[in-house]
Amino acid sequence: MIQVQMLPTNQDNYCYVIHMGDATVVVDPGDAQPVLRYLEQHGCTLSLILNTHMHQDHCQGNEELKRVTGCTIIGADKRIPAVDIVLTNEESLAQLDCLAVSQDSSAIQVIYTPGHTTADCSYYIHAGDSFSGALFSGDALFSGGCGRVFEGTMAQLFDSLQRLKGLPAETLLYCGHEYTLDNYRFAEYLEPNSVVVRNKLRDVQLQRERDEATIPVRLAQELTTNPFLRTADCALRKALMMEDNSEFEVFTELRKRKNRY
Ligand code: ZN
Ligand code: FE
Repeated sequence: MIQVQMLPTNQDNYCYVIHMGDATVVVDPGDAQPVLRYLEQHGCTLSLILNTHMHQDHCQGNEELKRVTGCTIIGADKRIPAVDIVLTNEESLAQLDCLAVSQDSSAIQVIYTPGHTTADCSYYIHAGDSFSGALFSGDALFSGGCGRVFEGTMAQLFDSLQRLKGLPAETLLYCGHEYTLDNYRFAEYLEPNSVVVRNKLRDVQLQRERDEATIPVRLAQELTTNPFLRTADCALRKALMMEDNSEFEVFTELRKRKNRY
């Protein structure tokens, strides 16, 4: 039995608590306080922290959570504060032997997604028949957008998104920030004539007016509306006047335009 709970932290970050059987796992604690409150209110013990990358807004709570709970911290970057296990190969967490999370950890798959930094990873959790799978993508993939290329390269981020695109379409996307409205405004600006994009933007606007989170969202939805996942889409390529360019060239142009937007 897997359950995901969202904890808003900092300005617009999302930290997530995952209940996997008896184990409690936290993704990207940008602040320890909301996590500690949640653990106390629900009477659970933190087993594991999964970090997607080393930026402060995703791991500022690490040290305090480790001090208070003694949890294990995992990530792909040795710069992550208090990290215990630095992932060096794409592997299921079941292959790591020093985990407090026992059999359920086999359901956590690590996917390397560099580009935003040089050492980002995403976590894909798949288990159980009633559970459609959850992707924790940090700042690699957002609803309607993707991360900025800070340290890595455009090619790395492009390749990372191709890996995430290959996950089952019913997967729920849990990304690191509530950037969805801004991202879909940009998407509509790119394709003002797209009914699908306009409808998605309207849905997101309504959610935000009601103060609701736009996350999680199905990967299937993102594949039809997120421009950064649609570099092969004829309508988008036409709107960009890049019908003869490669998908990577389209991606690079999108990322550059978003930086200026
Ligand atoms: Zn970041
Ligand atoms: Fe961030």
